[in-house]
This record gives sequence, C-alpha cells and structure tokens, in this order.
Amino acid sequence: MQTYTEVGSAPIKARETVRHRVVIIGGGTAGITVAAQLVRKGIHDIALIEPSDKHYYQPLWTLVGAGVAKAEQSVREEKRFIPKGVRWVQEEAVEIDPEQKLVCTRNGTRVAYDFLVVAPGVVSDWDKIAGAADTLGQNGVSTNYGYDLAPKTWEFIQQTQEGVALFTMPNTAEPGYTIKCGGAPQKIAYMAADYFRMRGRPVKVIYATAGGLLFGVPEFCKVLEGVCERYGIEVLTKHELIAVDPNRKVATFALKDKPGETREIEFD
Ligand SMILES: Cc1cc2nc3c(=O)[nH]c(=O)nc-3n(C[C@H](O)[C@H](O)[C@H](O)COP(=O)(O)OP(=O)(O)OC[C@H]3O[C@@H](n4cnc5c(N)ncnc54)[C@H](O)[C@@H]3O)c2cc1C
Repeated sequence: MQTYTEVGSAPIKARETVRHRVVIIGGGTAGITVAAQLVRKGIHDIALIEPSDKHYYQPLWTLVGAGVAKAEQSVREEKRFIPKGVRWVQEEAVEIDPEQKLVCTRNGTRVAYDFLVVAPGVVSDWDKIAGAADTLGQNGVSTNYGYDLAPKTWEFIQQTQEGVALFTMPNTAEPGYTIKCGGAPQKIAYMAADYFRMRGRPVKVIYATAGGLLFGVPEFCKVLEGVCERYGIEVLTKHELIAVDPNRKVATFALKDKPGETREIEFD
C-alpha cells in the first residue's frame, strides 16, 4: 500500500527507511525555497517532509483582513511548488535522531539524511494571551495570523461604525518569543484606518506594541510615525497584550516599562 504522494521519484511504502542526501522538514515558503535553490545548484537527492497538500501564501492574509483579497486566493496545491525530482514524503515529522541522522514520521517512516533542514514554521500560542483562544473569530476579536481568522478581521472592520479599533503587536524582543510577521499588525492598522476614514466613520484606531518603538529601523520608524500621525492612529509602546475579556470588551496590557503594572483598554 502506498501511503505517500511522490513528485519526482519512486513512491515509498509505510514503515520503509529511505535515505536522501538532503532532508527538509516543512514544505512552506522556507522549505520549498531551500529545495528549489538546491535543485538549481544541481543537488537533486532531496526529500521534503510535509503533511499538508495545501500551500498557504500567508502574506496575503493581511490583505484578506483588509478586504482586498479572498482567503482562498492564498491557497495553492503543495505539489505545484515541489521542484521536479524532489521526493515528497507527505507525512508529519515527529522525531529527529541526530546521532543516527534520521527523521521519523508519525506514520513510522524513517528518513535518513546527510544534511537536514528544519523549517516547520511558527505555530501561534494563543494561550499566552488569557481569553484569546476562546474568543478569536468572535466578539470583535480576530487575528490575521490564521487562514480561517483573517476573513473575520475584515468582517469586524466592516461592522465597526464607531468607537475604538485596537490593533496589537506581540512581544518579540524577549527570548522564546517569535512572530510570523512583525509588519502585519501595523499594515492592517493602516488599512483599517484608511477604510474608516474613507467612510467618514468616527473610529479611533489604537496600535499597541510590546516593543519600545513603532519600528526597529530608525529611517522606517520616522516614516511610519508620520503615517500614524496622518491617520490619527494613537501609538502605544511597551504595551504587551496579556488578556482579552470579550464580555467587557476590554484588553489588558502589561506595561513593559513599569514591571507589575497593567492597563486596561476598551475596544469595539
Ligand atoms: C498575516 C501575515 C502577513 C505576512 N506578511 C509578510 C510580508 O509582508 N513579508 C514577508 O516576508 N513575510 C510575511 N509573512 C511571513 C511569511 O508568511 C512567513 O515568514 C513564511 O510563511 C514562513 O515560511 P516557513 O516555511 O518558515 O513557514 P510556513 O510557511 O508556516 O510553513 C511551514 C510548513 O511546515 C509544515 N510543518 C509544520 N510542522 C511540520 C512537521 N512536524 N513535519 C513536517 N512539516 C511540518 C507546515 O504544514 C507548513 O507547510 C506574513 C505572515 C503572516 C501570517
């Protein structure tokens, strides 16, 4: 029984051990790009371990949240992007044995390598924000960091006739934190502000970031501060979102420059 889709080489069977010079975990933008670059350089003995048959172009989700694109436009068939000759192991990698140079999949297949590229992407940990996991996609609370949720952002922006539209940027400065895209929270704030302005809606846009600056590169920061000023966006720095209360419509922030202190902001 064949359990793997293969693109450019002989199919492999469940629980078989296969060997490739290069093994890549994750067929997202990073994994596919590495595979394509290696193939271009003449390295063809590659296996790509990726369970999903769909590839998501995540940067489009910002535009989905702003109503400029549809979520479906961000999806393609994974097999379209796997370079010819690369073996696709359509399974989830669950274990790496660096001593034996082996990757094990959930299905029990062992993929041996000379070189391993680990590119499984970033998984959002919504439990870091109390109340977020239960309310995302409802009660006016959404995120663009998800295929299903970005359309909700657009829904909520359209529904907001007045009041406060609050956009937040997580903490990326401290060890252990990472983010799918640092620019995405700002971009949706600008596009929402533009939407409200074009329709003459009295909506106050607040952009709250856990960082100390609007943007890390001074030249860009200056320009972006000008954009915020033009749109009347209130920028709050050192505000780390730690809780969302959908019933009270209140977001709670830890104030990074005042240890132990928090601040509540109401949103619509
Ligand atoms: C809203 C938004 C806006 C963005 N805007 C921009 C932008 O303007 N510019 C920009 O440069 N970047 C932007 N990005 C970031 C960009 O999308 C990511 O940097 C990029 O997708 C990361 O690629 P990746 O391959 O590391 O991860 P992903 O694209 O997330 O792919 C990871 C892959 O690994 C697979 N995988 C996970 N676990 C396993 C496992 N155990 N075994 C095998 N496979 C596994 C997954 O199925 C997935 O296919 C944005 C992201 C978002 C969400």
